[in-house]
Amino acid sequence: MRRLPIYFLIDISESMVGEPIQQVEEGLAAIIQALKSDPYALETVWISIIVFAGQPKTLVPLQEIVTFYPPRFPIGGGTSLSKGLGHLMYELRKNIVKTTYEQKGDWKPIVFLFTDGVPTDDTASAITEWKQNWQKSANMVAISFGDEAYTSLLGQLTYNVLHFKNTNAQSYKEFFRWVSDSIKTSSISVDSNGSGFELAKTDDDTLSKIDLTKPADRKPAYDDNFVVLAAKCQNTKRPYLMKYARNLASNNFGGVDLYTKSYRLTGAFPVDNSYFELADAKIDTKVSSEELVGAPTCPCCGNPYGLAVCSCGNIHCIGEEKESTCPWCGNRGTYGIGSGGFDINRAQG
Ligand SMILES: [Zn+2]
Ligand SMILES: [Zn+2]
Repeated sequence: MRRLPIYFLIDISESMVGEPIQQVEEGLAAIIQALKSDPYALETVWISIIVFAGQPKTLVPLQEIVTFYPPRFPIGGGTSLSKGLGHLMYELRKNIVKTTYEQKGDWKPIVFLFTDGVPTDDTASAITEWKQNWQKSANMVAISFGDEAYTSLLGQLTYNVLHFKNTNAQSYKEFFRWVSDSIKTSSISVDSNGSGFELAKTDDDTLSKIDLTKPADRKPAYDDNFVVLAAKCQNTKRPYLMKYARNLASNNFGGVDLYTKSYRLTGAFPVDNSYFELADAKIDTKVSSEELVGAPTCPCCGNPYGLAVCSCGNIHCIGEEKESTCPWCGNRGTYGIGSGGFDINRAQG
């Protein structure tokens, strides 16, 4: 039986923390469940999940659906699309069975790329390698979870670029149903016409195809919609992330839009220690404390203040104790509530 290999290449950078990654986790589980009850998919579809932040990782190696168990998704620092693509191409080279005189190989693999941000690295050489070696021998569908500004870059990888408007839990459900429908129709079409690639119809409210022939007159690519701060719990030593979303409020002053830049707390989330393995070497970017609205309690131990900055530059939680110990550098010290703004190291998003 010829296999139809499906690869998910999924961005797990910090801006995905919280609801988005939880929705992706549930969505992938729903896809697997749907495919398990589909006779065509059961026979032909094999699935692999690759994640990338600052570093890439094979979360689930290529395997058939019957034995597939949906994984938990980690979160990492940074968005290295080039390393994600590089790792995908390595897995494709390793796993795809080519057709020879002796044997019929795999059907053309299908890659679903989900990303929500702007790459924090240079993607040019990875894109060139993709075009030269894989653009014709694989089908890629790139889905932007975030700003449309980024879609012109994705358009260099594939003609199938879609923009997903992740407005609520229902839209996620519809989106993942669309993915499993697309896999089902593709697994049927390998049998009938051999092309093995057919996307299900999209509902434009949730998911729209990007017209790549239109010039992108968008603002330059930068990921400024979120500020994510990485911290460590003083008591449990576990890392956690604090996510702030950009405040969209603007003041119109005499016909001129005045944007006061600020970010409002969305939540604080414990993450696994693999966060550091999946992160880039640290790049110093700063945000002023004055731009941040709200401070969370520690999501790991419940300490009342989750945003104390040590003199080493790292963030941790503090409680009622007279003297705190920084879980990053081991320094002991007392903290007062500072007045005025101070700079805080941002994670990369
Ligand atoms: Zn804590
Ligand atoms: Zn410290």
